[in-house]
Amino acid sequence: MNISVKTASHTYEVMIGQGILAQAFTNYAPLFEKADQIIVLTDEHVWQAQATYFTNSSFFAFKTFIMPAGESCKSFENYEAVQTFLLEQQCTRKSLIIAFGGGAVGDLAGFVAATYMRGIPFIQVPTTILAHDSAVGGKTAINHKLGKNMIGSFYQPQAVLYDTVLLASLPEREVLSGMAEVVKHAMISDAQWLEEILQGNLVHLPEQLLAQYLALGIRVKANIVEQDETEQSVRKYLNLGHTYGHAIEAAAGYGRLAHGEAVMIGLVYSLLLSERYGQITRGFTKRFFHFVVANGYPFSAVNDYSFDELTTYLVKDKKAEYGELQFVLLKAIGEPFVQKVELAVCQEVDAELRNLIA
Ligand code: NAD
Ligand code: ZN
Repeated sequence: MNISVKTASHTYEVMIGQGILAQAFTNYAPLFEKADQIIVLTDEHVWQAQATYFTNSSFFAFKTFIMPAGESCKSFENYEAVQTFLLEQQCTRKSLIIAFGGGAVGDLAGFVAATYMRGIPFIQVPTTILAHDSAVGGKTAINHKLGKNMIGSFYQPQAVLYDTVLLASLPEREVLSGMAEVVKHAMISDAQWLEEILQGNLVHLPEQLLAQYLALGIRVKANIVEQDETEQSVRKYLNLGHTYGHAIEAAAGYGRLAHGEAVMIGLVYSLLLSERYGQITRGFTKRFFHFVVANGYPFSAVNDYSFDELTTYLVKDKKAEYGELQFVLLKAIGEPFVQKVELAVCQEVDAELRNLIA
């Protein structure tokens, strides 16, 4: 299945399906043939699990740079190490980078590609469920010790080649993390799709249904990014669940909670807030909450931090503009809007979340 993403900089395709990688590489042969060098940036877990599949699918010669797994590849040190490698290999503006990994590898590789010699082409080959979100839309970034994703750029890939066979080696926790973003995409776009999700389960989806959900999620994201590449308006809707989620993720110290686990907590929080500003009912919020708990999402982290502790991070979140807390909420499922919320209300709803968890 192909989904095209049209942005101001250029239009590119997302190819998604089971076992498509070899075919996808062949479809993009001209891109590989015109590159003077092809550098695969990946991380140690991904390479350990999927090097054979990648190598068997590719017809071109490439060099590999294997980075520390997960979030640690988004450090300044690793960013510099990769740039040093590219320089040592005498990569030029005609070299091509392939990001082979999850969102962390994709974010780092995208930022490397955006900045090496003022920009060289890159291709995303995502290997996590979460990356259906992160690989599309062109946000690239590394982390600063004062904040996650604080240093980055908007830089679109040449293509996203998403082979769902690669997801088979994902640890269950990473499945949960990624599915939170799928649920988010359903919540901001389509009540019927969300209902279908709520009738099933999130961890052991049949491969074909998973691929279908990922394609739906990519469509939602692509559609929004096309309207608003640099987050001036509707792109904000993609932050549903992320304001509170980021606060929990930061308070817990990145790594204790997977990104999507924190986002799922944030999604429940945003439903509770939406009861006040939209037509979401407490009955629905409870049903949603029990569904995600039954699927294994952890909520206990909330109890480890007081609201005051979370507030420091809530206010620091880059979505807090002019000292006010901005949330994406739902008038109804599929109808997101942006709402400024006073801190006192945030605290009341935080207490409601803690009650729900108790
Ligand atoms: P990740 O890239 O850290 O991967 C999670 C873990 O799974 C890592 O240990 C990784 O090595 C391992 N892994 C990945 N694929 C595997 C596979 N197929 N088999 C076995 N192990 C595998 O995590 P993620 O959840 O994909 O991405 C999170 C990152 O994405 C965060 O840094 C977040 O900021 C970023 N993000 C970016 C955007 C964006 O728009 N750019 C959007 C959402 C999230
Ligand atoms: Zn997210």
